Amino acid sequence: MAASKSIIVFHTLLPEFEYFRPKTLQEALELLDKYKGDARILAGGTDLLVDMRMRLKQPKYVIDIKGIDELHTLKYEEGKGLTIGATVTLDELLNNKIVKEKYYVLWDAIRQLADTHLRMKATLVGNICNASPAADSAPALLVLKAKVNIASVNGTRTVEIKDFFKWVKKTILEPNEMVTSIFIPEPPEGAKGRYLKFVRSAEDLALVGIAALVANPKDPAKRIVRIALSSVAPTPVIVEEVEELFKQDKPLSELAEEAVKLVKSKVSPITDVRATKELREHMVEFGTRYLLKTLLEG
Ligand SMILES: Cc1cc2nc3c(=O)[nH]c(=O)nc-3n(C[C@H](O)[C@H](O)[C@H](O)COP(=O)(O)OP(=O)(O)OC[C@H]3O[C@@H](n4cnc5c(N)ncnc54)[C@H](O)[C@@H]3O)c2cc1C
Repeated sequence: MAASKSIIVFHTLLPEFEYFRPKTLQEALELLDKYKGDARILAGGTDLLVDMRMRLKQPKYVIDIKGIDELHTLKYEEGKGLTIGATVTLDELLNNKIVKEKYYVLWDAIRQLADTHLRMKATLVGNICNASPAADSAPALLVLKAKVNIASVNGTRTVEIKDFFKWVKKTILEPNEMVTSIFIPEPPEGAKGRYLKFVRSAEDLALVGIAALVANPKDPAKRIVRIALSSVAPTPVIVEEVEELFKQDKPLSELAEEAVKLVKSKVSPITDVRATKELREHMVEFGTRYLLKTLLEG
């Protein structure tokens, strides 16, 4: 039987669309409500414009939010957390001292996302709204228990990042809603984190991405261990049972091995053009064990 071919067509020109560049959030929300279903938000455009060129998305209306000052917030409040507005770029986050010192797992993930040129355009909010299973920032945001602030003309709501992703490239956003910011609470005292990205070559999408966060490893009552992954399921996932597992008063090496088995049992990687299911399972096992060993002993 002849192998089926999938052909990706890049067009030289973008499809036609009407372009808006509102100055206020209210104006943007009104446009989104008026053209709901036919409109798309443009932040850095590093996903949207590629998808439009490939005719994967053909919005009639494009709402560019980069001129809205109130969405360019990057604010840290001691003891509370960090608010990252919808137009804050990945490069701005990479160059922020608080992000590097307090939210290292996120910094580590951003550092490995694409390259400098792309990070100067691309936003953190765009990365999660695009809802790719391979989104590098998602596992870090999951272990940090981030919250997503959403607005429409009808009001605002906040959802946990773990409830934001619905399926491959699908979020829980309604057609007239947009994300205004991400809030990341103050990490647990003494927390350490890392993001491990398996790739074929530099600047590749993750074959598997694993974020781990560990605090107070020596004290079972206060110990916090969280693991989240990308590219192993239709959405980025956090294996919530890991945190409960590590509350047990058992040797850390024993708990780490139980956690590796647990994580493997909770993911469902697929075979695609970039890696086989078996290779991804191996990366999940190796990567989880490596991160736990490094952070629990460190
Ligand atoms: C060459 C290349 C390499 C890449 N490498 C990586 C990589 O290594 N890792 C990785 O994770 N990604 C990678 N990406 C994907 C992309 O760069 C990121 O997902 C980026 O963070 C998207 O941000 P943006 O601001 O450009 O989003 P945009 O393209 O502007 O938007 C992305 C999607 O989210 C929607 N959106 C944006 N902002 C909002 C909002 N506030 N509310 C509601 N919807 C919104 C848009 O309508 C669109 O559907 C790569 C892309 C390219 C082209």
